Amino acid sequence: MKDTFDRKIDYLRLSITDRCNLRCRYCMPEEGVDSVGHGGVLSYEELLRIAAAAARLGVRKIRVTGGEPLVRKGVVGFVQQLAELPGQPEITLTTNGLLLGDLAGELKQAGLSRVNISLDSLREDRFEQITRRPGLQRVLDGIHQAAAVGLTPLKINMVPLRGVNADEIADFGRLTLEHPWDVRFIEFMPVSGGLGYSDENRFSAQEIMTELESVGPLTPVERSGPAGPARLFRFRESLGRVGVIPAVSNHFCSECNRLRVTADGRIRPCLLCSDELDIRDALRAGAVDEELEKILLNAVIAKPKQHRVGEKDYQEGRRGMQQIGG
Ligand code: SAM
Ligand code: SF4
Repeated sequence: MKDTFDRKIDYLRLSITDRCNLRCRYCMPEEGVDSVGHGGVLSYEELLRIAAAAARLGVRKIRVTGGEPLVRKGVVGFVQQLAELPGQPEITLTTNGLLLGDLAGELKQAGLSRVNISLDSLREDRFEQITRRPGLQRVLDGIHQAAAVGLTPLKINMVPLRGVNADEIADFGRLTLEHPWDVRFIEFMPVSGGLGYSDENRFSAQEIMTELESVGPLTPVERSGPAGPARLFRFRESLGRVGVIPAVSNHFCSECNRLRVTADGRIRPCLLCSDELDIRDALRAGAVDEELEKILLNAVIAKPKQHRVGEKDYQEGRRGMQQIGG
């Protein structure tokens, strides 16, 4: 699929739940989480029909996300069905890692190719401060288990926040000296209002680079294959790589290759624009495959050239990241 700006769209992010077993302050509020409820969330059958339609239209990679995807019952079987779709798209998953220790082996067997794990602090007290829940050791166990069963190359995503955890950027960077992991730093995005942090907490890509350079000289890594949003670097003799995702300060919209489906069946052409297309109603009204394909194509056409964060008239959206899937 090509959009109006000649970008090839071959990547689908499927949110399978808006529920989560953490409450990260930059993502969702502690209370009043507006869960869409059981009937509102797409069933696995409905999600599979969307994924199959996308695969027929040329989608080659599907990422399962949430909320926390591993809290939804039946996720392993669902991953297996995705992996068996015609064309065998690559299946990946983004998780907070809490349940990964238990599920990594089964997920690998089911056909998952790799995982991204979100982790924002290596200190238990801070982990709990940011996520409002304990669990650092479980996440670390999950990371090691995922590596052990071969859900690799493993990626760790950190959102550095000024005055909160930005002083741990160097420690996260040092993980790549001993582990063959990609540790990626993502600029905080003002997706929705009412969160624990604001623009002032955003640590910019430039500031992240300065912190990383305190560990040692960095060499840029040539990108091979499809360009992801991260700018990648290596420390001398490191096993892994560090990456910076300048989501806001230097956006990568010209390389955007993705569509997102929310757990309640809306297709979101752009993460940082509130426009959405409904596909749930069509599914529940008995739409045939061609109709689903048409909705996906319309979403591709609706992709804006770029997001408008930072512009005067930019307005934060109604939905938190846990509803959109990141
Ligand atoms: N629960 C899973 C997890 O945390 O990995 C998957 C869903 S989560 C919404 C996906 C990603 O979005 C996570 O890496 C999280 O750090 C990131 N995220 C959430 N809110 C964000 C924000 N305001 N700015 C930048 N990244 C954010
Ligand atoms: Fe949950 Fe992921 Fe959002 Fe944290 S970032 S609250 S783990 S959905």
